[in-house]
Amino acid sequence: MLLAEIISVGTELLFGEIVDSNAAFLARELGARGLTLHRKTVLGDNLERVREAITLALSRADLVILGGGLGPTDDDLTREAIAAALGETPTEDPALIAWLEGLYTARGRVMPQINRKQAWLIPSAEALPNPVGTAPGWYVRVGEKVIVALPGPPREMQPMWREQVLPRLPLPDRALYATTVHTQGIGESNLAELLGDLTRQANPSVATYARKTGVDVRVAASAETPEAARDLAEPVLAQVRTALARWTWGEDDDTLAGAVTRVLAGRSLGVIEAGSAGALCTLLADEPSFLDAAVTQDHRRLITLGLTPVTLHAQGLVSEQAARELAAGAREHLGAEVGVAVVTATHGERQNQTFVALDTGEAQHTASVDWPGNAEQIRERAAVLALALTYRALKSQAVPA
Ligand code: ATP
Ligand code: MG
Repeated sequence: MLLAEIISVGTELLFGEIVDSNAAFLARELGARGLTLHRKTVLGDNLERVREAITLALSRADLVILGGGLGPTDDDLTREAIAAALGETPTEDPALIAWLEGLYTARGRVMPQINRKQAWLIPSAEALPNPVGTAPGWYVRVGEKVIVALPGPPREMQPMWREQVLPRLPLPDRALYATTVHTQGIGESNLAELLGDLTRQANPSVATYARKTGVDVRVAASAETPEAARDLAEPVLAQVRTALARWTWGEDDDTLAGAVTRVLAGRSLGVIEAGSAGALCTLLADEPSFLDAAVTQDHRRLITLGLTPVTLHAQGLVSEQAARELAAGAREHLGAEVGVAVVTATHGERQNQTFVALDTGEAQHTASVDWPGNAEQIRERAAVLALALTYRALKSQAVPA
């Protein structure tokens, strides 16, 4: 039996300003893989208390997972606490420093000195790459035991857990088989009623999750081999599929936008959004084919909104000049006093590149960002950058009364 403990670090977590969803995610992962979890601890950003918790957890468990506190600031103390618990001294790893500096220089920036500690290692630690952030994780071998340190942001933590930690862990011989059925148009409690006793068994387990796209039903089984796990899950999955057929729109990685694409069968879809803040377009953007269609069609419309064909041809839509022209166009053609434009690419050749422009009539301001991330992060950053630019530019213009 492999015993695990989770230690979540962060004053915001301790005081309930954010919910510890990382520990919930990790607990489900551990259970599904045959590890036994006995304790979860939440601590504030305090070196001595985190060190003490690590020492104690290591005396009881085989695997200690720490979440959070890997950032560059003084209150990010997880590396220091692990080093102190093991009596080891951190040193800067040349390869990590080079990688970190590369992240900044590739974007024409200089790495702030405080980031250097993200390149620390201790002799027992191996760095876990973080393709979507600046904080590498740590995989620390302490005799037969293991300490893992993961970054706090779930979008960094979850892929690191799956892609870096799981393959390194000496896991018990358990295989997991899981399929998620996506439904729409039926509430969670009605659905649970429909599933009846199915939701009360442990292996295979049948669980419902309310999502923004409807209720998901996950059927999971664990056994000694992948085949045995699948054989165990299949009959229950078949029952679930039959019971929910009326409401089902897809399984696993299917997206609702993808399901819509399938039923459209090549016909085009027109979208007008008012008051929903682009949320429908955001969902549609989960399906790459919608984006491609939108971008090709948009070009005509964007030209009527002020984008010049010369810019489109010479510099492309995702360019500073295109953003400038569209910001001017937003003023002129939408009859606004201030125009703001965002051009960004969540996939393809210009992926990660975002340009925003603001046109006040008197002046134009631009900003850009090309930090790597997934589509959601890129869209979010683009929107935030546009708002930040607008705020900064308009504030510096304001004349004190
Ligand atoms: P960063 O480099 O972003 O500072 P970090 O590893 O230092 O990463 P924290 O500073 O602890 O992580 O947390 C950063 C953010 O990650 C938090 O503001 C929060 O949004 C999210 N986060 C951290 N811990 C958790 C958690 N246990 N559950 C859910 N979200 C979390
Ligand atoms: Mg931090």
